[in-house]
Order: sequence, then C-alpha cells, then structure tokens
Amino acid sequence: MIRYALICGDCEHEFEAWFASSAAYDGQAEKRLVTCPECAGAHVSKQIMAPSVKSPKKAAARDKAEQLAAEFAAKARDHVEKNFDYVGDDFADEARAMYYGETDDRPIWGATTPEESAALIEEGVPAAPLPQAFTPKRPKQARAKRNIN
Ligand SMILES: [Zn+2]
Repeated sequence: MIRYALICGDCEHEFEAWFASSAAYDGQAEKRLVTCPECAGAHVSKQIMAPSVKSPKKAAARDKAEQLAAEFAAKARDHVEKNFDYVGDDFADEARAMYYGETDDRPIWGATTPEESAALIEEGVPAAPLPQAFTPKRPKQARAKRNIN
C-alpha cells in the first residue's frame, strides 16, 4: 500500500488516498478514476511534497496583510511625529503637569522609567505605552521644552 497526498485541479481541495502501488495509482489516474471527494472532479494530481512551499494564493494574502500592517504603522508613526510634542525623558513630569492643571493639555510622547510609568497609572494620569511599531524615531532634541523655574 502507498499513500499519496493529492490535490484537485478543479477546486484545489487537498486530500490523501491509499493505492495498492504507485503503478495502481498511475493506472487509475490515467483512466480518470481518481476523483476529488469534494467536487468529484477527475483532474486530480499528486501534491508536490515540500513543507516550505506555500500556495501562491496564501503567500499573496500574507504579503498583503503584512503590507497593510506596515502602512498602518507608518501612518501612526507619522501622526505621532506631526501632532505630538516629543518631551524626551521628561514624559512623567510633563504628563503630571497637564494632569494637575499646571500646564495646558497637549498631546505629548516621550520616555520614562517603568517605575514612573507604574506611578503615573496609579495616580490616574492618562498615559499608555506606545507600541514599538507606532513609535517614531526619537528627535535629537526635545521640542517645546517647558521652562521650570
Ligand atoms: Zn475538487
């Protein structure tokens, strides 16, 4: 007995079937006796057995999804860069100053320590981690730095 992985040329259904020998398969296939269990079509052939080979359809769908995700991330980065003030390492101070009404609200982004980040959340200051993919390249100099007297 020999088992073959087969594919239907009509509906692309993939299935397995047992044959007495490879010659038996060849004979049945030649007479179009090997049929698809899905659509009963007789255009069945042996699958190329190579695990790394993906169907072009699936690969194209995956590429498309990756491309959309990359475009979305680029838009998010662009939005942050254009609309948010980069405050460098002063994020926690700036976020607190706004939260407690010491400065006007404005969208900001910047860096802080995990401890400060936890403290902000505990105080109820609205802040959230920016996903890596949405984070623009850090400017060299923090813009619009507040003057603390
Ligand atoms: Zn079929």
